[in-house]
Order: sequence, then structure tokens, then C-alpha cells
Amino acid sequence: MNSVSENGSSIKIKTQIADRFLDGLDVALWVFDIDNSCVLWGNAKALEVWAAESIEELASRDMKADMSVSVSQRLRQYQEDFEQGDAAFTELWTLYPNGKPATLRVIYKGYRLDDGRMAMLCEASPELGETPETLRSAEALLHTTVMISLYADNGKPLYQNPAARASNADTGQNAECRFADRSEYRALMQRLRRDGKCRAAARIRTKNGVRWHEITARECSDAVTGGGAILFSEVDVSDLKQSEERVRYLADHDVLTGLPNRNFLQTEAPYRLADAKQAGKTMTLLLLDLDRFKEVNDTLGHAAGDELLIEVARRLQTAAGSNAIVSRLGGDEFIILVDEDDANSVQGHIGCRVLELFDDKIWVNNNELRVTPSIGMSEYPKNGKDLSSLMINADLALYAAKEAGKNRAEFFSVSLQSKLDDRLELEADLRRAMKEEQFELYYQPKIDVQTELITGAEALIRWHHPEKGLLNPQMFITTCEEIGIISEIGEWVITSVAQKQCELAGKGFPVSLSLNMSPRQFREPRLIDLVLSLARDTGCDPSMIEFEITESILMDEQGPITEYLETFKEIGYGIAIDDFGTGYSNLAYIQKYPISSLKIDRFFVSSLPDNSAITHLIIAMCKMMNLKSVAEGVETEEQLDWLRAQGCSEYQGFLFSPAVAPDEFAALLARQKTQATGNLVKLPTSRPRKVTSAQ
Ligand code: C2E
Ligand code: MG
Ligand code: MG
Repeated sequence: MNSVSENGSSIKIKTQIADRFLDGLDVALWVFDIDNSCVLWGNAKALEVWAAESIEELASRDMKADMSVSVSQRLRQYQEDFEQGDAAFTELWTLYPNGKPATLRVIYKGYRLDDGRMAMLCEASPELGETPETLRSAEALLHTTVMISLYADNGKPLYQNPAARASNADTGQNAECRFADRSEYRALMQRLRRDGKCRAAARIRTKNGVRWHEITARECSDAVTGGGAILFSEVDVSDLKQSEERVRYLADHDVLTGLPNRNFLQTEAPYRLADAKQAGKTMTLLLLDLDRFKEVNDTLGHAAGDELLIEVARRLQTAAGSNAIVSRLGGDEFIILVDEDDANSVQGHIGCRVLELFDDKIWVNNNELRVTPSIGMSEYPKNGKDLSSLMINADLALYAAKEAGKNRAEFFSVSLQSKLDDRLELEADLRRAMKEEQFELYYQPKIDVQTELITGAEALIRWHHPEKGLLNPQMFITTCEEIGIISEIGEWVITSVAQKQCELAGKGFPVSLSLNMSPRQFREPRLIDLVLSLARDTGCDPSMIEFEITESILMDEQGPITEYLETFKEIGYGIAIDDFGTGYSNLAYIQKYPISSLKIDRFFVSSLPDNSAITHLIIAMCKMMNLKSVAEGVETEEQLDWLRAQGCSEYQGFLFSPAVAPDEFAALLARQKTQATGNLVKLPTSRPRKVTSAQ
């Protein structure tokens, strides 16, 4: 190069030649500033393409105004691609100079500006050969948010549309490397090779971390090389997957403790049992129930109860180990299913280990709680071959554990099974008994302690069992309460007693009758309607009928007890507290409720006159509060003498008579009437018989 080339005029000439050359080109060239969305320079053809008056006018145009979001994202993507290397892209572009569409094939390359920023050199030539269909589809490919990529058979990337490039962590990455779990790629490819196309959801590494993509893949050929290729269309479905997973989690887990729930247990247990069968191993199922959990809820509130359950769940998981299923069935009931090895570890049997967990006190809301569990256990396959039979048998063992005094673990045994059979038989018999009218009310006379006259009677239910004969309530009342049939029986008792009172009054025996109520009856909304219409329906005199309730009914906050008792009282019915002294015996609530009498439990009466302090106190209290005192279970003259001396109002007991059939009771009343009118000997001699054993 000579010295002339170094001077200014030489540079000028060169520039002029270059300008002339560039302006004479049949291709449009321009430099686009991506950051500022404007053209920086363009040749004459570019001015024509853009329908611009001058380069200044073109440069002054704000391209951003007409630019769609997808185009601006794409340009950013190109900018990044240019930064990474010698990238070039070809696009079909349709411009609308003077409102007429002109389709151009544009090649983009990176162009570094003096200030170091990456701009874009665009080279456009008219595209004449393409059909409108091709043009539109090419446009759609650029704009779509679906990530479309073409890979060679060996997984090498051949093409990625802007959406795919925007998502890929590394655009040069082999297809398989994009999969967070390569086995998902291999499974996809297997299906693709078999069917030629397939659809699957997989976890893909992207610029934004691992995301769920729904991938539609199909085999095709590369239009350039003609070689085999795979076309992937991908959509990000992470949000959907997350909510799907959440829904699945909620369906299978208990929200409070995070433990698997019954649903999960029912799905999972069959697999665990099948595995155990195959391995020739046993499994143990523990059914656990917290003793007196209701008390925690009632005294400390439900939030404290919840906290306790969370802590129990945590402890159970620790004791059971990671292979076990620890699940919450609901309330304070949990199930653990462990295999042979976990059941019998060196720390002892799982039942004992769980019991030991509760040796450490639990702190809830600054309260130190001593909580104990009762546990029923059954073994697979000995006590059941499926979850349902294992649960039934563990439930039976749990029942036995509670019966035996709680805070213990019991295994299911065959004798429990026979108890269960008896119980099921009893339940079936009871349901039939109601329909076939096998129940009858017996009446145990109540005697005025001073006058020794019959003042009334307590109705006590009997069951004429077709095979077992006459059964006392101890044999069946608890079961009636447990299976709920007590409400139906209770309604029958109330109506029958009301009818009997009316019948006896009609025969000239104006005696009062009392009847026993179970706690569960007070949870029946129907009870109030029955009592409200009782006098009208049966013709009874409410002042001659007394409802015997236990102290536990007053403590049961689930039923509207106060409201019920007030209504009973308003209509004129009496209310007696039965078995008084054995329960809470709280003076405050006796004052709170409209009570007419207290029945002193047989337990206290039986120890008279030696241990008399409590009976003495109850009688004194009744006098003070103007309540009738009734001594239950009086069996001896000494007991009666003592009661008389204390001023007890009435008594019941074998000394006078056990509960007798209705006709016999009517006969007793008739005899008393005869004696009274004939002014015969006083009643002690007229006691029907002395009985020493319960009937
Ligand atoms: P309760 O209401 O305390 O009835 C008194 C029980 O003591 C009766 O037993 C009665 O036969 C028995 N008894 C009475 N005098 C003596 C005595 O001198 N010595 C002894 N050893 N026992 C005596 P029963 O009839 O077997 O009733 C037991 C319990 O069953 C009743 O206790 C009551 O709680 C319940 N029950 C009876 N009938 C009904 C009913 O219709 N409905 C409900 N819900 N429960 C009932
Ligand atoms: Mg009673
Ligand atoms: Mg009683």
C-alpha cells in the first residue's frame, strides 16, 4: 500500500466507492440497534424496502411502536445468540411499505457497534418462490410460544424456533442432555421408535431451572440433508403439574399432620402385603387411639388438640421407621403397617416401642400433657390376608386394650374373634328384637321411707330373648348405645311409661313412674318433639313422670342439655340424677339444672350403716336444696332403719321388691289399696318377698 492510501482523500474515495457499491447492490442491507429498536444505517435498497425518504428519516422511526412482544423477545434472543458466537439466522419477513405486503428473506448476523453493544446486520432479498401457505407457517413458527425443535437421529440439534431457544439452557445441547432424568428420554425414544410419534410429560433443564414440559415428538426427515430427524413440540406445563401434584398430595395425605391418610393406606397396603407374601414375611398392623383425647380438646381447646396430634404423628413416624406406613385415619386414630424386621427390632416389639414413646410428656401451649395410647395389633397373614380384615381384627384388639384399662397394646386372638362373633350376633338380634316387640318394661316399686307406702316405680327394661330367655339391661344396653338403636328403644320406653302412668291412674293408682335415659338420646332432635306431644298423645300426667339421667349426660356438651331439661321442667316432668355419687357429683351443676331428686347409688347404700359418711352428706344436701332423696338397692332392714333415721325420702331395693312384670306391679298396688282401705296391718308385712340376688 502506497503513502497516498494513508491520506484523507484516499479514505474519502474508498468510502465513496463503498457507498456506491452498497447502494448499487440488489439486496437491502441495514444495521438494526436492538437495544433502541431503530435502524442505524441502510443502503439505497433498504430505503426502498422500508419505503423511506432518507436514511435520517428511516433512522428516526421508532420501530418499537409496531413491534409485537414475541418479535421483541426474539430479537433479544438473537442478540444473546450473537454474543455467544458466529450465529446467523434466516427468516421470511413480510413488510408493509405503503400498505402492500412485500415478503423478504432476511439473514441476520451480529454487528458489534463502536460502543461495544451487539447490533444486528440485516440482509434482505425479495422472496418470490414461496407460497402464501409457506410464508404464513414460517411466520407462525417464529411467533408461537410452543417450543419447536428439530434434532438429528443422534440427538444433535438442527433447528430451534425462537421460543425453544429462549427456553434452552444451552442451545447446542444434545436432546438427551436436556432431560433432568435421562430415563424419561430413553422411555420417550422407545415409544417413538415403536409408534413413530408419542406424547409425554418430562422434566427438562431450562434457563429457568428444571421445568415440566409436555412433549409431542414425531419422526421425520431433515429437509436439508434428507437424513432421519425428530421433531419436538414442547409446552411448559409446570404450573399444571404443580397443581396436579398438590391435588394428588391432598387426596393422599392428612392436612393436619402431613401423614398419609386412609386413602393412601388403602392404595398402598395391598402392594406391601403382596411384597411380604412374595418374600415369605409377616407384617404387623397397629391401630392406635389416644386415651382421653376428647378431654384435651374440651379443656385446652381444639388448637391444642391439633398440636398434640401433630406431635404424636411425629413420634409415631420415628418409632415406626422409614419403611413403615404411618397413617392418620381421622380424629385421634392412627394406623401403622410395618414389616417383620421393623416390627421386631433390637429395641423391642413395635407395640412396646410405641407405648414407650408416650413416656415422655408432651408440651402443648405451655401445658405438660400426659397422653397415653391404646393399641390393637393384628398380624399378616395369621390374622387376615387383606387390609380390611387386618383392620377389623386390630380394632377388636384395640377394644380389648381399652377394656383392660387403656395405655396398653393387645394382639388379636381367636378368643377375641369369638367375642366379636357374639357381639355381631347380639347386634343382629337387637335389631330384630325391636321389630318383633321382644322388649318389656318391668317396674321396681319406690317406697316412702317413712310411711312405707308405694309411691311409684322405676321402669326397667327387659328383653325376652327367643333363645336366651329373659335378659337384664346389663346384657344389652351398652351395645344398644354403641350401635345407636338406643334412641329408638328410648322413644318406645318413654311412650310406654307415659301410657302405663295414664293406665294406672285410670285404674285408681295415681303413682309416679320414672324411666332411664341414655346420653345419646339427648343428641336426637326428635326427643324434644316427642316429649312436647307426650301428654297429648298418651293422656299422661307429666307431674307423675320423672326422667332419670346420669351425671355424664349433664357433662356431655354435645347435646343442648340445659334447653331440653328446662323444657321438660316447664311441662311439669321431674328430673332425677341416677346413680348419684359415682360421677362428678358437682354441687354447682346440681344447682344449675332443674332437678327434682337425687338417687343415691347402690354402692353407697350397700355399705350402710358402717360407711355412711357420703350417704349422710347426700341426704343432708337434698334436704337443704329441697330435693327428694331416693336410696337405691336397699337390701336389709338395717339399711332401711338407718335411712329412716336420716330422713331419706324414698327407697328402692330387693328388701321390698325387685323389678316385676307390669301385672305384678299392678297387683302390688291393688294389695296396698286394699290394705289401706281395710285399715289392715302396715306395709312391712306386705312386702311381696325378700330377694337376695338380682333378677
Ligand atoms: P339403674 O337405673 O340404676 O337401675 C337400678 C338397677 O339396680 C336395676 O338393674 C335394678 O334391678 C337393680 N336393683 C334394684 N334394687 C336392687 C337391689 O336391692 N340389689 C341389687 N343388687 N340390685 C338392685 P337393672 O334392671 O338390671 O338395670 C340396670 C341398669 O340398666 C339401670 O340402672 C339403668 O341404668 C339401665 N336401664 C334399665 N332400663 C333402662 C332403659 O329403659 N333405658 C336405659 N337407657 N337404661 C336402662
Ligand atoms: Mg335408674
Ligand atoms: Mg341407679
